[in-house]
Amino acid sequence: MFNSENLTVNQDNHLVIGNFDTVELAREYGTPLYVLDEDLFRKTCREFKEAIDTYYDGNGLVLYANKALCTMHISKVTAEEGLGADVVSGGEIYTIHKAGFPMEKVFFHGNNKTRAEIELAINCGVGHLVVDNRFELDLINEVAKEKGIVQRILFRIKPGIDAHTHDFIKTGQIDSKFGVALENGEAAEIHQYASTLSNIKIDGVHCHIGSQIFDNEPFSEAARVMMDFIAELKQKLNIKVNILNLGGGFGIKYSSDDDPLPAAEYIKRAAETVKQCAAEKGLELPYLVFEPGRSLVAPSGITLYTVGCVKEIENVRTYVSIDGGMGDNPRYILYGAKYSAVVANRAIAEPKGPVTIAGKYCESGDLIQEHILMPEIKVGDTLAILATGAYNYSMASNYNRIPRASIVAVRGNEKKVIVKRETYDDLIKNDVL
Ligand SMILES: *Cc1c(COP(=O)(O)O)cnc(C)c1O
Repeated sequence: MFNSENLTVNQDNHLVIGNFDTVELAREYGTPLYVLDEDLFRKTCREFKEAIDTYYDGNGLVLYANKALCTMHISKVTAEEGLGADVVSGGEIYTIHKAGFPMEKVFFHGNNKTRAEIELAINCGVGHLVVDNRFELDLINEVAKEKGIVQRILFRIKPGIDAHTHDFIKTGQIDSKFGVALENGEAAEIHQYASTLSNIKIDGVHCHIGSQIFDNEPFSEAARVMMDFIAELKQKLNIKVNILNLGGGFGIKYSSDDDPLPAAEYIKRAAETVKQCAAEKGLELPYLVFEPGRSLVAPSGITLYTVGCVKEIENVRTYVSIDGGMGDNPRYILYGAKYSAVVANRAIAEPKGPVTIAGKYCESGDLIQEHILMPEIKVGDTLAILATGAYNYSMASNYNRIPRASIVAVRGNEKKVIVKRETYDDLIKNDVL
C-alpha cells in the first residue's frame, strides 16, 4: 500500500516501519527524523548479491554506492552483508575505513580526485581507483611511484548511451563531465598511454549510465558496448582486463507512477548480455561489478516531520509547512524529485485535496512536493515522506543554521540512533570569533 513492503498500519491507524510505530518514534526522538529499516536494507543487499550468484555464478561483486547514504553504521552493515563499496571522496574513504570496511573491496570514483584524496586512498589500501582523465592518471602513477606500489585502476568510460532519465542524473553520453569517450577514440588512446606507465595496472573498465533508470535495456546496451571495447583492447592494444563494472542507477518507486523492475532483473539482463558477448567474441567472462546506491537504500528510509502550519490560499493552493525541508531533503528543489507522503498519525484516511508540502527554509523553492493529493492535515500531525533513504541525509546541509537531523535504524525489535542529531554547539564548533 505505501510503496514499500515494510510499511504497515497498526490498530491506532499509525504508520508502522518494521515493528515500530512512527508516531512514537517521532515523539521519542523529535523531528525531523530519518528512520531506516535495517532489516529491509539488509534484505535488499542480499537480493542483489543473490542475483549475481544466480545469474552469473557468483563471479562478481555488488558495491554499495556510499554517496547515497554514508555513515559508519551503514558501512558496517554493508561489510557484514558481503558487499564492496563505491566511494567518491576522501570523506567517504575515511568514514568507511574508520568503520573497519575491507578496503580491498573498495572502488574510488570521482571526476576530480585531489592528490590528498589519492594519497589517502592508497594509504588506506583501496583496491581500485576508477580513473576519470589523463591528469588524474599521471597523478595516480606519481603517487603510486612515491609509495612504491602498483595501483590497480579502471577507466570510467562514456559508452554513449541514452539512459532515458533526468538531464542532471544522466551520465553515459559524450557531453558529460565524467570519464573518457569511446566514439572519438579518447578511451582507446588513454588505455594505450596507461599501459606504458610503470605504477599503473589496468584491471578493468567501468561505466555508469545514469540514475533512476526503469528499463533494463540500457544496461544491456551498455554491457554490449563495453564488451566490444574489452575485445578491442585485447585485439588492438594487447590489453587484457579482468573487471567489467557496469555502475548503478537502478530505479525505485517514489510514487505510484513509478514501476521499477526487481533488482535481480537488471542484473539478469546485463549478465546474459555479457555472457552472450563473451561467447561471440571468444573472451573470458569478466568479473562483473554493479554499484547500486539508491535502489539498495532509498526504499528502507522514511523521514518524519511535524506539521507547524497549514496555509490555505483560496483559489491558489494550500501550503502545509513542516519542520524540515531542503536542509534535510534537497531533491525537490534540485530536480523536482517525486515523493509520496503519509499522515503518520492517521495513516488510512480519505483523500481531501491537493496540497503543497513546504519546508521551513528561506527559499520559495524549498518544497518537498507540490499538488499532492492528501487527506486532511492538521497542525501537530506527523508527516512521513517515503523512500528517503538515499540522497537525503547524504545531501543534507546546515542552511539557515539548522542542525542536521538524526537517523534511527530499526531492526527487529531493536532501535538505535546511528547518527546523532546535531546541536547548536556543533554548528559553531568550527567558527573562529
Ligand atoms: C551515483 C553513482 C552510482 C550509484 O547510483 P544510484 O543511482 O544511486 O544507484 C554508482 N556509480 C557511480 C559511478 C555513480 O556516480
